[in-house]
Amino acid sequence: MTLNWNRVETMPSKQYICGYCGDDISSEKGWFGKNSSTARLVFVYLCHKCERPTFFNTDGLGQTPGAIFGNTVEGVEDDLVEKLYNEARRCTNNKSFTSAVLSCRKLLMHIAVAKGAMKDLNFIEYVEFLSEKNYIPPDAKDWVDHIRKKGNEANHEIVIMNEVDAKDLISFSEMLLKLIYEFPANIKKKAQQ
Ligand SMILES: [Zn+2]
Repeated sequence: MTLNWNRVETMPSKQYICGYCGDDISSEKGWFGKNSSTARLVFVYLCHKCERPTFFNTDGLGQTPGAIFGNTVEGVEDDLVEKLYNEARRCTNNKSFTSAVLSCRKLLMHIAVAKGAMKDLNFIEYVEFLSEKNYIPPDAKDWVDHIRKKGNEANHEIVIMNEVDAKDLISFSEMLLKLIYEFPANIKKKAQQ
C-alpha cells in the first residue's frame, strides 16, 4: 500500500511507537497546527513504515492511536502467528487486556501445534509442551509456573485480565517468537551471504 499525502511538511523529528504497525520510529513528516485556547501546537506525524498518521496533542504527551506494547518480531513465516501477535499488541493500546491475553493464548497454542503438539489440549498443556520440547530456555522456565498459576483455561472460565497480565504474556510470546523465528531466520540469512 502506498499512501500519497498532500502537502506534507518537514517538522522537528519525533520518536514514537506507531500505534498501527508497532514499529519504533522517528518521523519528521506531517502537519502541525495550533490549539486556539492554549496557543500550544498540535502535531500529526506520518509513520514512514506504514504511512499512517498519529495525532499528538498540545501537552506533547498524548498520542492517538496510542503506542502498542511489545516489539516487532522479524522473520515470522507463519502469517497467522504474526497476525495473532500483532493483534495482541494492538489490544493494549485501547486497554482490551483480556482480548490481548486470549490472542496470546491462541498464538502459543498455534505454535505448539505447529511444533507437533496434539490438537485439543488445553492452554497450559500447550505451554508445558513447548517447555518440555525445550522451546522455552531453562532460565525462562519460571514463566511456565507463572502462566500455569494465571491460566484458568482448565475450567473454561473467562477471567478478566489486567494490564500486567496482558503485558507479561505478550513479553513471553515475543521472547518465544524471537527464539523460534527471528534468530533462526537471521542466521540463515547470514549463512547465505
Ligand atoms: Zn506505522
